[in-house]
Amino acid sequence: MTGIAAPPLPSLVDPRLDELVGNLGPAAGATAYLEELRWPDGVTCVRCTSLRVGFIKTRLKYGCRDCGYQFRVTAGTVLHDSHVPAYKWLLAVQLMLESVNGFPANRLYALIGGSYKTSWFVEHRVRAAMAQALLDDRVITVALEQVSGSAYHRPGVAHLPAYWAETRWRLDHIGTKDAYRATALALLAADPVSYRKLTRHPGSLPRPLPPGPGGEERGCSP
Ligand SMILES: [Zn+2]
Repeated sequence: MTGIAAPPLPSLVDPRLDELVGNLGPAAGATAYLEELRWPDGVTCVRCTSLRVGFIKTRLKYGCRDCGYQFRVTAGTVLHDSHVPAYKWLLAVQLMLESVNGFPANRLYALIGGSYKTSWFVEHRVRAAMAQALLDDRVITVALEQVSGSAYHRPGVAHLPAYWAETRWRLDHIGTKDAYRATALALLAADPVSYRKLTRHPGSLPRPLPPGPGGEERGCSP
């Protein structure tokens, strides 16, 4: 993670990510890491699963020779359509995993740049991926349903299940040697989450909102 302040706690980062970043630089290394995790047997079309896929250098995308679809490693995942580069997503994962009580979005955006809103959205998408992975494992299905019952719609607690999932995820994975890799895999396995969906409840809008006209709710764009 060249050029970004080191986190205060011992690194949990997958040594393979460090190796790729060392060889290719932060941007290409992070993308290569995600590609290795998503396609361990070679790039596969995310639409038709064809293996007849080529890289389009001018667009920095893969193109399927069978169905014509063009895609990046983030296509169809919780990172879908994000303007935040992969290495910043992976830094956010590192900081969130290595913090004891969560890593505030206002500290994240001081590190990765952009707006508070973007960092808030990045963190909530990571939490959404953790929640989906936990649900997929059926670890906390009942607990989450209880938390997300009547209290879910009250201002101020709209995101309680997400924070709960983050805490549960950290408790489950810290101390395991594959904590970082498991989290990156959860990001790739999780469905896209829109900003509109995350902020649909009154009182749940992130603060402080950045200045500027409109544009708060545009799907996955922040
Ligand atoms: Zn295809």
